[in-house]
This record gives sequence, structure tokens and C-alpha cells, in this order.
Amino acid sequence: MNILVINCGSSSLKFQLINTEDESVLAKGLCERIGIDGRLVYQPANGEKETIDSAMPTHKQAIQLVLDSLTDEKKGVIKSLDEVGAVGHRVVHGGEKFAASSVITEEMLKTVEECNDLAPLHNPANLIGINACKELMPNTPMVGVFDTAFHQTMEDTAFLYGIPYSMYEKYKVRKYGFHGTSHSFVSKRTAEFLGKDIKDMKIIVCHLGNGASICAVNGGKSVDTSMGLTPLEGLVMGTRSGDIDPAVIEFLAKKENKDITGVMNILNKESGVYGLSGEVSSDFRDLEAAAKDGNEKAARARQVFIYRVVKYIGSYIAAMNGVDAIAFTAGLGENDGSVRKEICDHFGYMGIEIDAEANSKRGEDMVISTENSKVKVVVIPTNEELAIARETLELVTK
Ligand code: AMP
Repeated sequence: MNILVINCGSSSLKFQLINTEDESVLAKGLCERIGIDGRLVYQPANGEKETIDSAMPTHKQAIQLVLDSLTDEKKGVIKSLDEVGAVGHRVVHGGEKFAASSVITEEMLKTVEECNDLAPLHNPANLIGINACKELMPNTPMVGVFDTAFHQTMEDTAFLYGIPYSMYEKYKVRKYGFHGTSHSFVSKRTAEFLGKDIKDMKIIVCHLGNGASICAVNGGKSVDTSMGLTPLEGLVMGTRSGDIDPAVIEFLAKKENKDITGVMNILNKESGVYGLSGEVSSDFRDLEAAAKDGNEKAARARQVFIYRVVKYIGSYIAAMNGVDAIAFTAGLGENDGSVRKEICDHFGYMGIEIDAEANSKRGEDMVISTENSKVKVVVIPTNEELAIARETLELVTK
């Protein structure tokens, strides 16, 4: 079956058409600047990448353009939309309502809408994408795959904040966690790659990209994760602060004469390694280059990031009473061997050893720890689109 995977943001939309027989990508691309002017980047598997500037005032028009390209006589990869068996939509927040992916129905969409307060930037955009797609493909089954669902196995001891319980009862303020599709995919693949049953494993997945989070996976279930009510909690990220003393918000508001929105903007967009480096960059490649040129702030930003990752890994080893494997994934986790090594060197006392040669490779599933290492360390490229396609296939063929 061919499955169209859609990840819809407020002004952009990423897509992949995946053939689930052999899990190949038939075509992929991106619509940008929806509602502004509009640009479609379209890449068929066996053809030229093409950039088309075309007005897309609404998401419906953007999706129509994607469907037109997929079925185009020349550059298309399918003859008609009948060859799309299902659509899998990424949905950011499923609150406590969704502990698994779900077939899209009117009732399901109402429940997703109830979670909008928890992710005001993302969920409404996801819903717009789903509704636009439904209008254009009314008879094609669709599935919502949630970033939060994998973490619904956390116990209340892990997900509750130390605030009045009534805040949880009234507003569901708690840790939810994100990147669930990636943490689930990478933890499963880690066990499979190491030839072990995931039920017998304690795995720590480090999803280190521009957004970054860590997840403790015990027996295949998420037992704790670093992001919280929103994706702001946890690690120091590209531009997000991660954990801070909550009192910093009031302090900064007074000192900088800003309202809550202004301070949240600092924490979401002007912080992380970008802010720490004195606005050099949120990209680790730029930070490393600047550090090599003697920029101390850039070097320090990298160290603060690493130190926070180390603290989370350490706390999850304690939470699970041990660890069998540590997996690195996402842009930085998959590509930056020096960051991986510096993180793992903190665990030398536990017998973790990195193999320098293995750690210098890229782009494939690989073990980067030595034969003697007490804990296996692996790099597993994440593939959220494929994970969404697999979930969608499972639900529509049930
Ligand atoms: P992601 O959000 O998963 O796409 O990751 C993007 C981030 O990964 C970038 O901002 C960089 O910090 C990092 N990254 C990507 N490629 C490399 C690379 N070759 N070396 C070091 N860092 C990289």
C-alpha cells in the first residue's frame, strides 16, 4: 500500500509518499510560505528535484499542489489518487486522551481539538492539514500519529510536577513529553539491531537535533522523558532554554520590562546554545567552527549542552536502575561524533567505552562502543515518516 505521510505546520507542510511493501520513499517534499506566497519543493525518487513557486493561500491549495505533483503525467509517481491507500498525519499533542495512534473520525478530531490549549502553535495547524486533506480525499482512510502518545506509559511519579494537585485535575498540567514517534522507532530499532528482545532492555534514547529530548525506555515503554507540558523543558536546545528555575520568568519580566509572552519568546527563540553563544548560531557546526576560532562563548555553549545531556542520562540510569544501551539519533546525534564521545566519556566510570573508528562513521545503524564496553552505545538514524507510515498501515489494515 502507498501511504502519504503529512506533517503540517502553521505555514509549512512536509510530505512523503511511502510504499509500505518495501518501505521505499516514492516522492517527498515540502510546501513553504503557505498563506504568504507559496513554494513547493518536490523530489520524486527517480527524478529531478524541482522547486515550484506557486500561490498557496491556504493549506488546502498546498495539499492540492502536492497531490497534483504526485499524479502528474511527467514527474508524478502514481497514476491517480486511488493509489494512495491511506494518509498518516503527524499530530503534536494528544494530551492524556491518546496513548496510541488513532484512525481519524469526526469524534477523534473533536478530542484533538480539546488538546489545542496544550499546543496552541502546533495542534491547530495539524488540524487544518487534516481537514484540508479530508476535503480533497474524502474516501481515503486517515490516521493521526501523536508525538506525545509513546510517553503515556509514564507513571504519575514521573509525570507530575510538584505543584498543587488541583492544577493537574483542573487543567491537566503535567509532563507529556514529545518526539515520541522518534523515541519509539529508535528504541525498537536499537533492540532489533542488537539482536535483543526490547522487553528485556533498558534503553536511553538521545534525540539530539535542533529540538532535543532524552527518553528512558524500560521494556519497550517510555518511563521518563526530558520534555514536559511543552517542548520547552529539559535539555538546552538550539534556541530553547530547557530547564530553568521558574522564578527566572518573573525576574526577567521585571528587569527587561516584558510581559509573559515576551519572556516566553526569549526562552523559546533566543536561548539555548544560540543565546548562550552570544547569538553565534543554533547549529552545532557553526559553534564548533567558532570555538576553533577562539570564540569562548561558542565553546562554552557546547559544553553546557553536553553537561545537561550527561545529567539527564545519569538520572535515567538511576530511574531505571541500570542501562543496557544508549542510542543517539537526529541531526546532531547522528552526525557529531565528538559530541557523542564527550557525552559518553562522562560514563567511563561505569565501563562505557567508545570505539574511535566506529564513532567516526555516519549515516547508518552502528554500534560505536568497544567490544569491552559494559553498555552498548549505538547510532540509529531516526525516521519519523516511516514510523508514521508503519503505524498508519497497522491501523488501516486491522
Ligand atoms: P534536526 O533538528 O534533527 O534536523 O537537527 C538539526 C541540527 O543537527 C543542526 O542544527 C545541527 O546542530 C546538527 N547537525 C546536523 N548535521 C550536523 C553535522 N554534520 N555535524 C554536526 N551537527 C550537525
